[in-house]
Amino acid sequence: MNIPNLYQYFLQSTGVSTDTRKINPGNIFFALKGPNFNANDFASKALEIGAALVVVDEERVVPPGDERYFLVADALTALQQLANHHRHQLQIPIIGLTGSNGKTTSKELLNAVLSRKYKTTATQGNLNNHIGVPLTLLTIGKDSEIAIIEMGANKQGDIKELCDIAEPTHGFITNIGKAHLEGMGGPEGVLKTKTELYQHLRENKGTVFINTADPILSNMIKRFENPVLYPSKGDYCEVSFVEANPFVSFKVENDDTVHQSSLIGEYNFGNIATALTVGKYFGVPLREAVKGVVQYVPANMRSQLMEKRSNLIILDAYNANPSSMEVAIKTFASMNRKKHKMVILGDMFELGEHTEAEHQKIGEILSQFAFDKICLTGKHMQAALSKAPISTLYFPDPFSFRNWLQDSKLEDYQILIKGSRGMKLETLVDFI
Ligand code: ATP
Ligand code: MG
Repeated sequence: MNIPNLYQYFLQSTGVSTDTRKINPGNIFFALKGPNFNANDFASKALEIGAALVVVDEERVVPPGDERYFLVADALTALQQLANHHRHQLQIPIIGLTGSNGKTTSKELLNAVLSRKYKTTATQGNLNNHIGVPLTLLTIGKDSEIAIIEMGANKQGDIKELCDIAEPTHGFITNIGKAHLEGMGGPEGVLKTKTELYQHLRENKGTVFINTADPILSNMIKRFENPVLYPSKGDYCEVSFVEANPFVSFKVENDDTVHQSSLIGEYNFGNIATALTVGKYFGVPLREAVKGVVQYVPANMRSQLMEKRSNLIILDAYNANPSSMEVAIKTFASMNRKKHKMVILGDMFELGEHTEAEHQKIGEILSQFAFDKICLTGKHMQAALSKAPISTLYFPDPFSFRNWLQDSKLEDYQILIKGSRGMKLETLVDFI
């Protein structure tokens, strides 16, 4: 594939696109294939809408002599190679990050911190896979001084592939928990997959930031010559947790001032500490870094706080897996804002053979606390019932649940709502 040639077109273009609905005039359109589509078939349409060039991998769609078509062996590979080629022209720090939970939150916090001193480029939203990472790299402009790249994984080898494309010079893992157990071959597989980032940084003499408060991550410290450690006393950057009631507040270094974030849940403390540490490493003045964190407001459904009559709802319906479920329940249990506490949990997906056991464990965790009401919903959550407190209510379908909620007329409750994205638990809020 003639990547240097394609790169010349890229430099003259207005950027790249893989979606005909989002093409801007002057874009290069990459015709990717998915399970249900073959974008080679949309190449001519892309040109009609304004694409300057289309990268296709099927000769049949190329009209003879039409120079607006760039034929390659594989369009996805071409996109990835182009991104890597672009990356090689950049002399800036590229921070790669992965982990089971908290990637997007950490990325956004870090961006909020670094952008107080630098012109940054960061992953948009959740574009963290083999397509999103190259697309992100290709948005790094000439004036960008630092880039933050979120890397997600569904199976072993995914993070290595993304590291080969982005070649991060710095990086961190948010945590290693139990997300995507199905594709990764169990907890061991998750560990192996996430540490592919560490492997890359070690082999390329990159800089790693390690959260020493996380037992699994701190075990890896010895793999590195000069890891940047946080957030405990004696580490490179000291950040201390104050409380999460429900917003996380914290102190930094020797200063006794307590800062309050807009993030709910103690688990977000690690995300905050990471952002402050990386900011310090890159010379962002502490006051500015703290401002970046304090002013950051999380986007929809990632631990959103809502009030409904006398009730306070913590809506965490963006995603769920065993580790994020556990920390969410524990944090919620320690929060005392209303007279009564109610937990609404829905299914966790993508757990494969671990599905039943992990849902049962949620039942066990629930039984450690005295919640006034517990409601479970979804087909997998039924497995939690055998271990959950006997007063637990189970609703196999959303309709009966909604009716029950509406009839309950809850008052003075704090309510945690959490489940996998596919459960769409946010639709329950209207019935409370
Ligand atoms: P995805 O895999 O969808 O990209 P992500 O890793 O980017 O997820 P976020 O979107 O930042 O994660 O957060 C999703 C949810 O994970 C949050 O709403 C919260 O429930 C939970 N979470 C966030 N940070 C942590 C953490 N450090 N430890 C455990 N759970 C966390
Ligand atoms: Mg994410």
